[in-house]
Amino acid sequence: MSQTAIIGAGVMGETLLSGLVRAGRRVDDLMVGEKRSERARELEERYGVAVVPNVEAAAAADTVMLVVKPQDMADVLAEVAPVLRPGQLLVSLAAGITTGFIEQRVPEGVAVVRVMPNTPALVDEGMAAVSPGSHCSEADLAEAESLMGSVGRVVRIPERQQDAVTAISGSGPAYIFFVVESMIEAGVHLGLPRATASDLVIQTLVGSAKMLRETGTHPTVLREQVTSPAGTTASALRELEIHRVRAAFLAAMEAARDRSRALA
Ligand code: NAP
Repeated sequence: MSQTAIIGAGVMGETLLSGLVRAGRRVDDLMVGEKRSERARELEERYGVAVVPNVEAAAAADTVMLVVKPQDMADVLAEVAPVLRPGQLLVSLAAGITTGFIEQRVPEGVAVVRVMPNTPALVDEGMAAVSPGSHCSEADLAEAESLMGSVGRVVRIPERQQDAVTAISGSGPAYIFFVVESMIEAGVHLGLPRATASDLVIQTLVGSAKMLRETGTHPTVLREQVTSPAGTTASALRELEIHRVRAAFLAAMEAARDRSRALA
Protein backbone atom coordinates (compact mmCIF):
# COMPACT_ATOMS: atom_id res chain seq x y z
CA MET A 1 0.00 0.00 0.00
CA SER A 2 1.33 3.45 -0.83
CA GLN A 3 2.30 5.89 1.92
CA THR A 4 0.54 9.24 2.20
CA ALA A 5 1.85 12.20 4.19
CA ILE A 6 -0.23 15.20 5.23
CA ILE A 7 1.88 18.31 5.84
CA GLY A 8 -0.09 20.91 7.84
CA ALA A 9 -2.68 19.40 10.16
CA GLY A 10 -4.93 22.37 10.89
CA VAL A 11 -8.67 22.39 10.16
CA MET A 12 -8.45 20.96 6.65
CA GLY A 13 -5.48 18.65 7.30
CA GLU A 14 -7.21 16.98 10.23
CA THR A 15 -10.45 16.76 8.27
CA LEU A 16 -8.59 14.81 5.58
CA LEU A 17 -6.77 12.67 8.08
CA SER A 18 -9.96 11.66 9.87
CA GLY A 19 -11.75 11.06 6.53
CA LEU A 20 -8.96 8.83 5.25
CA VAL A 21 -9.03 6.80 8.47
CA ARG A 22 -12.85 6.50 8.29
CA ALA A 23 -12.57 5.45 4.64
CA GLY A 24 -10.36 2.54 5.68
CA ARG A 25 -6.81 3.78 4.95
CA ARG A 26 -4.46 2.03 7.38
CA VAL A 27 -2.99 4.43 9.93
CA ASP A 28 0.38 2.78 9.27
CA ASP A 29 0.17 4.05 5.67
CA LEU A 30 -0.40 7.63 6.81
CA MET A 31 1.90 10.17 8.44
CA VAL A 32 1.65 13.81 9.38
CA GLY A 33 4.10 16.71 9.27
CA GLU A 34 3.11 19.34 11.83
CA LYS A 35 5.41 21.90 13.40
CA ARG A 36 3.64 22.48 16.74
CA SER A 37 4.59 19.72 19.19
CA GLU A 38 1.42 20.08 21.28
CA ARG A 39 -0.72 19.66 18.16
CA ALA A 40 1.43 16.70 17.05
CA ARG A 41 0.81 14.91 20.37
CA GLU A 42 -2.92 15.58 20.09
CA LEU A 43 -3.05 13.97 16.62
CA GLU A 44 -0.94 11.01 17.68
CA GLU A 45 -3.29 10.35 20.58
CA ARG A 46 -6.48 10.90 18.59
CA TYR A 47 -5.63 8.84 15.49
CA GLY A 48 -2.57 6.76 16.38
CA VAL A 49 -0.85 8.33 13.37
CA ALA A 50 2.91 8.99 13.23
CA VAL A 51 3.71 12.71 13.40
CA VAL A 52 7.21 13.28 12.02
CA PRO A 53 9.31 16.20 10.77
CA ASN A 54 8.20 17.47 7.34
CA VAL A 55 11.39 16.31 5.68
CA GLU A 56 10.98 12.77 6.99
CA ALA A 57 7.33 12.68 5.85
CA ALA A 58 8.19 14.01 2.39
CA ALA A 59 11.06 11.56 1.93
CA ALA A 60 9.06 8.50 2.97
CA ALA A 61 5.69 9.12 1.31
CA ASP A 62 4.59 8.28 -2.23
CA THR A 63 1.99 11.05 -2.02
CA VAL A 64 2.47 14.28 -0.05
CA MET A 65 -0.61 16.38 0.67
CA LEU A 66 0.25 20.04 1.27
CA VAL A 67 -2.39 21.49 3.57
CA VAL A 68 -0.66 24.61 4.90
CA LYS A 69 -1.85 28.19 4.38
CA PRO A 70 -0.95 29.69 1.00
CA GLN A 71 1.52 32.11 2.63
CA ASP A 72 3.43 29.16 4.20
CA MET A 73 3.68 27.18 0.96
CA ALA A 74 7.01 28.62 -0.30
CA ASP A 75 8.71 27.86 3.04
CA VAL A 76 7.38 24.31 3.19
CA LEU A 77 8.42 23.63 -0.42
CA ALA A 78 11.91 25.01 0.25
CA GLU A 79 12.14 22.68 3.25
CA VAL A 80 10.99 19.47 1.54
CA ALA A 81 12.25 19.97 -2.05
CA PRO A 82 15.74 18.53 -1.34
CA VAL A 83 14.24 15.14 -0.37
CA LEU A 84 11.58 14.91 -3.09
CA ARG A 85 12.19 12.62 -6.09
CA PRO A 86 10.61 12.01 -9.51
CA GLY A 87 7.62 9.69 -9.33
CA GLN A 88 6.25 11.21 -6.13
CA LEU A 89 2.91 13.00 -6.14
CA LEU A 90 2.27 16.36 -4.45
CA VAL A 91 -1.37 17.23 -3.82
CA SER A 92 -1.80 20.88 -2.84
CA LEU A 93 -4.98 22.15 -1.19
CA ALA A 94 -3.81 25.75 -0.82
CA ALA A 95 -6.09 28.43 -2.25
CA GLY A 96 -4.53 30.45 -5.05
CA ILE A 97 -1.26 28.49 -5.28
CA THR A 98 -0.75 27.31 -8.87
CA THR A 99 0.77 24.01 -9.95
CA GLY A 100 3.39 26.13 -11.78
CA PHE A 101 4.40 27.81 -8.49
CA ILE A 102 4.97 24.38 -6.94
CA GLU A 103 6.63 22.80 -10.01
CA GLN A 104 9.22 25.61 -10.09
CA ARG A 105 10.24 24.74 -6.54
CA VAL A 106 10.47 20.92 -6.67
CA PRO A 107 12.60 18.49 -8.71
CA GLU A 108 11.48 17.83 -12.28
CA GLY A 109 9.33 14.70 -12.58
CA VAL A 110 7.48 15.26 -9.30
CA ALA A 111 3.79 15.25 -10.21
CA VAL A 112 1.57 18.03 -8.86
CA VAL A 113 -2.22 18.11 -8.47
CA ARG A 114 -4.04 21.20 -7.25
CA VAL A 115 -7.21 20.74 -5.22
CA MET A 116 -9.82 23.13 -3.92
CA PRO A 117 -11.70 21.39 -1.08
CA ASN A 118 -14.36 22.70 1.28
CA THR A 119 -15.19 22.20 4.98
CA PRO A 120 -18.29 19.96 4.64
CA ALA A 121 -15.56 17.34 4.09
CA LEU A 122 -15.77 17.18 7.91
CA VAL A 123 -19.05 15.29 7.54
CA ASP A 124 -18.04 13.42 4.35
CA GLU A 125 -20.07 15.85 2.20
CA GLY A 126 -17.14 17.84 0.84
CA MET A 127 -16.87 19.17 -2.71
CA ALA A 128 -13.38 19.09 -4.18
CA ALA A 129 -12.18 20.21 -7.61
CA VAL A 130 -8.89 18.74 -8.85
CA SER A 131 -6.60 19.99 -11.63
CA PRO A 132 -3.48 18.29 -12.98
CA GLY A 133 -0.11 20.03 -13.21
CA SER A 134 2.14 19.59 -16.22
CA HIS A 135 3.83 16.26 -15.34
CA CYS A 136 0.78 14.54 -13.99
CA SER A 137 -0.36 11.07 -15.16
CA GLU A 138 -3.87 9.63 -15.14
CA ALA A 139 -2.81 7.44 -12.18
CA ASP A 140 -1.68 10.56 -10.25
CA LEU A 141 -5.01 12.29 -10.85
CA ALA A 142 -6.90 9.14 -9.90
CA GLU A 143 -4.93 8.91 -6.64
CA ALA A 144 -5.74 12.56 -5.80
CA GLU A 145 -9.41 11.87 -6.59
CA SER A 146 -9.39 8.78 -4.40
CA LEU A 147 -7.86 10.71 -1.47
CA MET A 148 -10.38 13.55 -1.76
CA GLY A 149 -13.21 11.07 -2.49
CA SER A 150 -12.84 9.77 1.06
CA VAL A 151 -14.47 12.98 2.33
CA GLY A 152 -17.00 13.83 -0.39
CA ARG A 153 -17.48 14.39 -4.11
CA VAL A 154 -14.72 15.25 -6.57
CA VAL A 155 -14.77 16.91 -10.01
CA ARG A 156 -11.93 17.44 -12.49
CA ILE A 157 -11.53 20.97 -13.84
CA PRO A 158 -8.93 22.86 -15.89
CA GLU A 159 -6.64 24.82 -13.58
CA ARG A 160 -7.75 28.18 -15.05
CA GLN A 161 -11.15 27.59 -13.37
CA GLN A 162 -9.68 27.07 -9.88
CA ASP A 163 -10.12 30.69 -8.75
CA ALA A 164 -13.81 30.58 -9.69
CA VAL A 165 -14.20 27.25 -7.88
CA THR A 166 -12.53 28.76 -4.80
CA ALA A 167 -15.12 31.54 -4.90
CA ILE A 168 -18.08 29.18 -5.32
CA SER A 169 -17.51 25.94 -3.41
CA GLY A 170 -14.27 26.63 -1.48
CA SER A 171 -15.70 29.66 0.31
CA GLY A 172 -19.30 28.58 -0.39
CA PRO A 173 -20.12 27.08 3.00
CA ALA A 174 -19.53 30.50 4.60
CA TYR A 175 -22.17 32.12 2.37
CA ILE A 176 -24.67 29.40 3.23
CA PHE A 177 -23.95 29.78 6.98
CA PHE A 178 -24.40 33.55 6.53
CA VAL A 179 -27.83 33.00 4.94
CA VAL A 180 -28.75 30.58 7.74
CA GLU A 181 -27.67 33.10 10.40
CA SER A 182 -29.69 35.83 8.68
CA MET A 183 -32.83 33.68 8.49
CA ILE A 184 -32.53 32.66 12.16
CA GLU A 185 -32.18 36.34 13.18
CA ALA A 186 -35.22 37.16 11.05
CA GLY A 187 -37.18 34.42 12.83
CA VAL A 188 -36.23 35.94 16.19
CA HIS A 189 -37.38 39.37 14.94
CA LEU A 190 -40.70 37.80 13.96
CA GLY A 191 -41.10 36.55 17.54
CA LEU A 192 -39.94 32.92 17.34
CA PRO A 193 -37.78 31.48 20.12
CA ARG A 194 -34.18 31.27 18.87
CA ALA A 195 -34.05 27.47 19.20
CA THR A 196 -37.27 27.08 17.19
CA ALA A 197 -36.04 29.48 14.50
CA SER A 198 -32.78 27.58 14.32
CA ASP A 199 -34.52 24.17 13.95
CA LEU A 200 -36.84 25.54 11.27
CA VAL A 201 -34.03 27.08 9.22
CA ILE A 202 -31.59 24.16 9.44
CA GLN A 203 -34.18 21.54 8.49
CA THR A 204 -35.41 23.78 5.65
CA LEU A 205 -31.83 24.01 4.38
CA VAL A 206 -31.23 20.25 4.61
CA GLY A 207 -34.60 19.47 3.01
CA SER A 208 -34.06 21.95 0.18
CA ALA A 209 -30.53 20.64 -0.47
CA LYS A 210 -31.86 17.07 -0.57
CA MET A 211 -34.62 18.08 -3.02
CA LEU A 212 -32.04 19.71 -5.30
CA ARG A 213 -29.78 16.67 -5.25
CA GLU A 214 -32.37 13.92 -5.33
CA THR A 215 -34.82 15.37 -7.87
CA GLY A 216 -32.19 16.96 -10.13
CA THR A 217 -34.81 19.65 -10.80
CA HIS A 218 -33.57 23.14 -11.67
CA PRO A 219 -33.63 25.51 -8.65
CA THR A 220 -35.78 28.00 -10.58
CA VAL A 221 -38.47 25.35 -11.03
CA LEU A 222 -38.31 24.35 -7.35
CA ARG A 223 -38.56 28.01 -6.33
CA GLU A 224 -41.55 28.56 -8.64
CA GLN A 225 -43.28 25.58 -7.01
CA VAL A 226 -43.34 27.47 -3.68
CA THR A 227 -44.22 30.86 -5.21
CA SER A 228 -47.97 31.13 -5.68
CA PRO A 229 -49.40 34.19 -7.42
CA ALA A 230 -49.64 37.14 -5.01
CA GLY A 231 -48.62 34.81 -2.18
CA THR A 232 -46.30 35.10 0.81
CA THR A 233 -43.19 33.76 -0.96
CA ALA A 234 -43.68 36.17 -3.87
CA SER A 235 -43.75 39.07 -1.38
CA ALA A 236 -40.52 37.88 0.22
CA LEU A 237 -38.75 37.32 -3.10
CA ARG A 238 -39.73 40.80 -4.29
CA GLU A 239 -37.90 42.23 -1.24
CA LEU A 240 -34.80 40.15 -2.00
CA GLU A 241 -34.79 41.52 -5.57
CA ILE A 242 -35.37 45.12 -4.36
CA HIS A 243 -32.38 44.70 -2.02
CA ARG A 244 -30.30 43.38 -4.91
CA VAL A 245 -29.40 40.12 -3.15
CA ARG A 246 -28.73 38.35 -6.47
CA ALA A 247 -26.34 41.12 -7.54
CA ALA A 248 -24.70 41.05 -4.09
CA PHE A 249 -23.98 37.30 -4.49
CA LEU A 250 -22.37 37.93 -7.86
CA ALA A 251 -20.25 40.79 -6.47
CA ALA A 252 -19.26 38.69 -3.44
CA MET A 253 -18.09 35.77 -5.54
CA GLU A 254 -16.21 38.03 -7.96
CA ALA A 255 -14.41 39.49 -4.93
CA ALA A 256 -13.53 35.99 -3.67
CA ARG A 257 -12.26 35.00 -7.13
CA ASP A 258 -10.11 38.15 -7.33
CA ARG A 259 -8.70 37.51 -3.85
CA SER A 260 -7.83 33.93 -4.84
CA ARG A 261 -5.98 35.28 -7.91
CA ALA A 262 -4.09 37.74 -5.72
CA LEU A 263 -2.87 34.98 -3.38
CA ALA A 264 -0.81 33.38 -6.16
P1 NAP B 1 -5.04 26.05 9.31
O1 NAP B 1 -6.11 25.52 10.20
O2 NAP B 1 -4.29 27.29 9.71
O3 NAP B 1 -4.00 24.86 9.09
C1 NAP B 1 -2.71 25.02 8.57
C2 NAP B 1 -1.81 24.15 9.39
O4 NAP B 1 -0.52 24.13 8.81
C3 NAP B 1 -1.65 24.68 10.83
O5 NAP B 1 -1.81 23.59 11.73
C4 NAP B 1 -0.21 25.18 10.83
O6 NAP B 1 0.40 25.10 12.09
C5 NAP B 1 0.42 24.22 9.86
N1 NAP B 1 1.70 24.67 9.35
C6 NAP B 1 2.09 25.92 9.02
N2 NAP B 1 3.37 25.92 8.60
C7 NAP B 1 3.77 24.63 8.65
C8 NAP B 1 4.99 23.98 8.37
N3 NAP B 1 6.04 24.67 7.93
N4 NAP B 1 5.07 22.66 8.54
C9 NAP B 1 4.02 21.93 9.00
N5 NAP B 1 2.83 22.50 9.32
C10 NAP B 1 2.72 23.83 9.15
O7 NAP B 1 -5.59 26.28 7.85
P2 NAP B 1 -6.73 25.43 7.06
O8 NAP B 1 -8.02 26.16 7.16
O9 NAP B 1 -6.64 24.00 7.45
O10 NAP B 1 -6.21 25.63 5.58
C11 NAP B 1 -5.15 24.84 5.06
C12 NAP B 1 -5.16 24.96 3.55
O11 NAP B 1 -6.40 24.46 3.07
C13 NAP B 1 -5.02 26.41 3.10
O12 NAP B 1 -4.04 26.52 2.09
C14 NAP B 1 -6.38 26.75 2.56
O13 NAP B 1 -6.29 27.61 1.43
C15 NAP B 1 -6.93 25.38 2.15
N6 NAP B 1 -8.38 25.39 2.19
C16 NAP B 1 -9.03 25.51 3.38
C17 NAP B 1 -10.42 25.55 3.36
C18 NAP B 1 -11.18 25.72 4.65
O14 NAP B 1 -12.38 25.97 4.54
N7 NAP B 1 -10.57 25.56 5.82
C19 NAP B 1 -11.14 25.47 2.17
C20 NAP B 1 -10.44 25.34 0.99
C21 NAP B 1 -9.05 25.32 1.01
P3 NAP B 1 0.41 26.44 13.02
O15 NAP B 1 -0.98 26.67 13.42
O16 NAP B 1 1.29 26.01 14.14
O17 NAP B 1 0.99 27.54 12.19
